[in-house]
Amino acid sequence: MSLFGTSGIRGKVEENITPELAQKIGIAIGNYVNNLVCVGRDTRSSGEMLSKALISGINSSGVDVINLGIVPTPIIGFSTRKSESEMGIIITASHNPAQYNGIKIWNSDGSALNRKQEKELEKIIEDYNLSNWKNIGNVSKRSYTRDYIDSVVKEIDLNNNYDVVIDSGNATGFISSYVHRELGNHVLTLNSDPAKEFSRGLEPNENNLTELSNVVKETDADIGIAHDGDSDRIGVIDSDGEFVQYDVLLALISNYVSNKEVVSTVDASMILDQYLDVPVFRTKVGDVAVAHSIKERTADFGGEPSGTWIFPEWQLTPDGIYAGAKVVEMIDKLLDLSVLKEKVPEFFTVRKKIECPNEKKAEVQKEIESLVLERFNFDDLVTVDGVRVESEDFWVLFRPSGTEPYFRITLESESKDKVDEIKRKSEEVVKDALKSIK
Ligand code: MG
Repeated sequence: MSLFGTSGIRGKVEENITPELAQKIGIAIGNYVNNLVCVGRDTRSSGEMLSKALISGINSSGVDVINLGIVPTPIIGFSTRKSESEMGIIITASHNPAQYNGIKIWNSDGSALNRKQEKELEKIIEDYNLSNWKNIGNVSKRSYTRDYIDSVVKEIDLNNNYDVVIDSGNATGFISSYVHRELGNHVLTLNSDPAKEFSRGLEPNENNLTELSNVVKETDADIGIAHDGDSDRIGVIDSDGEFVQYDVLLALISNYVSNKEVVSTVDASMILDQYLDVPVFRTKVGDVAVAHSIKERTADFGGEPSGTWIFPEWQLTPDGIYAGAKVVEMIDKLLDLSVLKEKVPEFFTVRKKIECPNEKKAEVQKEIESLVLERFNFDDLVTVDGVRVESEDFWVLFRPSGTEPYFRITLESESKDKVDEIKRKSEEVVKDALKSIK
């Protein structure tokens, strides 16, 4: 049974993310570990139901659970280490809409499970043991949130105070407002009621953050910070009320944090290589691959152009809340973001997604590979993750989304005309590939 995508298990609650599935995964986890795991969830209405089923599965295989209740992903990583649990599990669908949910699993060191471990769990789901009646696991409620906030505040060094607007979309990111208040910043919150429904698209991108941008402008704030559903990601508005492009922000924070090596993904911009003094190692898309490359290479920072960043000296779990505090520290130590971003070289980057049913993705990718050979002039073709075409003056990546029914196109060039030309050709390639597959 194949369950895991690039970022854990995810789907629609009415369709494939059911209590039965959560319970099976719970049983598999209980068979995989020996004693203790942490479980938490984001603010979705299906969260409690799924978490009860998951916990019952874990307990039925004789393993104890610390129930953390509603927490962001970074606090799952933190609590797992603090409680010396063998795994941390969060019920979340990250940036997907409210009708979605999913399960993401973390190791005791805060890194996400690797593919091998996921396969082992999938195997146990087919063949497991339940505990006898005397050894059924129990559940305790505990919170490490206070400890987490104190620890972030201790790590961040500010000489001045800033006017910060936090937009958590009514999800788990409200923790950021506590962190910034305790750092001495003046905080204004937006969409900060986790009991309400999500108030905007949860992906912290330019389209979804227009309200935050307006509030930053109207209140003359220094910065706006937004998160996705489980707050492993960050999106930032500068003091001019402008969204700071993901690739630019990734280059700035990498430069600020890293003295050794940065890990990023095949869809990240060339800006990184041009702007940084340290080497950039590229891995497959997804924070799981980034975390494992960081561990393997002992790199000192890793980030994806989706605003998912890992600070390994802090923790191996992507942490949007720590990331937001670190961006404010960068402003404090260097310059305002609106000034800093002007120093980053400009490229034209396009990210597009085209609908593609999950079951067609593999065939579409094969077809894209052959169409690309016919239609593009290029120097290099890389198929580590999707199809990446590289030439002297552009690159383009065709890659099926691991979490949604889309095929993604990412492309970049220093020339606007080139970008327009490659964009048109690339969209045609995906559409023709889709048409050719019945
Ligand atoms: Mg997320």
